[in-house]
Amino acid sequence: IQTPLTDLEIARKADMRPIQEVAAAADIPAEALEPYGKYKAKINVSKLPQKTQTGKVVLVTAISPTPAGEGKSTVTVGLADALSRLKKKTMVALREPSLGPVMGMKGGATGGGYSQVLPMEEINLHFNGDIHAITAANNTLSALIDNHIHHGNLLQIDPRRITWKRVLDLNDRALRHITVGLGGPAHGVPREDGFDITVASEIMAILCLATSLSDLKERLGRIVIGYTYDKKPVTAHDLEAEGALAVLLKEAFKPNLVQTIEGTPALIHGGPFANIAHGCNSIMATNTARQLADIVVTEAGFGADLGAEKFMHIKARQGKFSPDAVVIVATVRALKMHGGVPKQQLKAENAEAVRAGLPNLEKHIDTIRRFGLEPVIAVNRFTSDTPEEINEILNWCRLHQTEAVVADVWEKGGQGGLELAEAVCRQLNQPNHFAPLYSPGEKVADKVQTIVKEVYGGEDVHFTDKAQKQLAAIEQNGWDTLPICMAKTQYSFTDEPGRIGRPQEFTITVREIIPKIGAGFLVCLTGEMMTMPGLPKQPAAMNMDLDDSGHISGLM
Ligand code: ADP
Repeated sequence: IQTPLTDLEIARKADMRPIQEVAAAADIPAEALEPYGKYKAKINVSKLPQKTQTGKVVLVTAISPTPAGEGKSTVTVGLADALSRLKKKTMVALREPSLGPVMGMKGGATGGGYSQVLPMEEINLHFNGDIHAITAANNTLSALIDNHIHHGNLLQIDPRRITWKRVLDLNDRALRHITVGLGGPAHGVPREDGFDITVASEIMAILCLATSLSDLKERLGRIVIGYTYDKKPVTAHDLEAEGALAVLLKEAFKPNLVQTIEGTPALIHGGPFANIAHGCNSIMATNTARQLADIVVTEAGFGADLGAEKFMHIKARQGKFSPDAVVIVATVRALKMHGGVPKQQLKAENAEAVRAGLPNLEKHIDTIRRFGLEPVIAVNRFTSDTPEEINEILNWCRLHQTEAVVADVWEKGGQGGLELAEAVCRQLNQPNHFAPLYSPGEKVADKVQTIVKEVYGGEDVHFTDKAQKQLAAIEQNGWDTLPICMAKTQYSFTDEPGRIGRPQEFTITVREIIPKIGAGFLVCLTGEMMTMPGLPKQPAAMNMDLDDSGHISGLM
C-alpha cells in the first residue's frame, strides 16, 4: 500500500512560478511589487492603478470544529483554483499562520493535499516578518509604559491597572502571569504583567482593520494601555508612542502575495485567531483583492458562530463591503463527532452518527440565513468517508432546501472543486440581502444578547459583577457604541468546550469586558478562554527536524 504524501511533500513537489509572473497575471504592475525572494512579495498598494473595489466576496466558514479537522483553508484554496479553472478572475485572501498552532497541535495554516498555498514552509514560518514586527511594536509599547513609570510617572499610571500586556507568538503558558521590574531601583518599578500570544494582540487586530497608514497611526494612538490612579484611561498617544509603532509596522502593513499550487494569486495578510480575537485576514488584503479580481475567496476562523459572525459585524462593516456568498465546510468525520463518536472510532462507517451530528450544521446554516445570505454546504471529502455517510449529508440538505456539494479538493485540487465553484457562482448571481444582526448604537448588553440568541442559539447572557463594573466604565468613557468581539471556545455554541453538537437552553457568562479602542471593538471574555494558549502533551514541535541539506520534516 502506498502511503499518501504529506502536505509538505506535496508542496515541495509543486512547480512554483516566479512571483513576478503571478503578479503580472493578476495585473499587479512591477512598480507595486516588492519581491521577498523568488516566490513571495509584498504589494505597495499605493502604487496600484486606481480602480474601484468591485470584486465579490465569498466567505468560507465551517461547522463547529472538532479534533477530526474540517479543512476550511483547504476548501478556500481548492474553491479558488476551481473558479480559476472556470476562467473567473479569482484571488484568495487568507490569514498568516501563527507559530502557536504550528508548534502546538494543529500544524500550519496553508491548506492541505492538492489545495495549498506556496511556499508552504516559508508561509508557516516567519512569513515576511509580519508577526515578528507586530510582536516588536506591541513590546515597544510595553517598554515605553514601564520606562514612563520608572522615570517619574508623570501621567500617574496606576501600575496595578495596566491592561496592556507583552506578547510572543508561541504557546507558552508559563508566561501568562509574570512580575516585571524586579532587582531594585535601577531596574524599573515592580508590577504584575503577563504575555498574550501575538495573534490575540490589539496590534494584530489594528493591522487587520486599518484601511490606510493614517488610519493605522490613529488607531495605534487610541490604544488604551491602562488607567491612572484616579481611573482615567491612558492611551498610547499619551505616551507619544504611535509614531514609533507605525514605523515598526510599515512593511508588515503591506499585503503579501503568494500563489496556490495551481497558480491562483493569494494575498496572505494578518492572522488573528477567531476565538480570542476577530479571526479574519486584513481589510487591506481583502480590499486589494477586490480591486484586482472579480471574485475573492476568503476565510474566517473556526465555526460560523465565531469567525463568520465577526466577519459580518466587525470586518465587513469596517472594510465597507458586504459578503456576497458563504460556503459552510462540513465533514463526515466532524459530524460523526458531533453525533457522539469518539475520535478513535471515526474510521468505522456510521451514517447514523452523521445524522445525529447534523443539528450542528443546521444551526450554522440558520445563522448565515439570519444575515440574509444563502449558504452553500461544501462536504470536504476524506478518503475514509463512505458514500452512505456522504449521502446522509446531501439528502438532509436536499430535504431542507439547502444546496450541498462534495468538495474533492484535498485529493484533486481545483478539478475536485468545480461543482462547488459552480454552486458559488449561482449564489453570486442572486441579489444580495446581507444585513448585520445588530447596529453599533445599541446597548452593549443588547448586542451581546443578539449574538448569544441568534448566533449561538442560547437563552440568555449573564454578566459577572466584574463585567458589570467594566460595562459601567465603558459607558462612562463613551466606548459603548463599538461592536462586540466575543472570546468563546470554538468547540461549542456554549462557553463550555465539552458541549458539542447543538446544545439547547444555555446561558453564556461574560466574565470580563476588555475595551480595545484602537481595534475598535469590545472583547467579551467567556468561559475559560485564555489569551495565551499552552502546548499539548505531545506538541507538533517534537516531530520536526532539519536535515543536512536544509530540508524540513514534520511540518504539517
Ligand atoms: P482549517 O482551515 O479548517 O483549520 P485546514 O484546511 O488547515 O483546516 O486543514 C487541516 C488539516 O486537515 C490539514 O493538514 C489538511 O491537510 C487536512 N485535511 C483537510 N481536508 C482534508 C481531506 N479532505 N482529506 C484529508 N486531510 C484533509
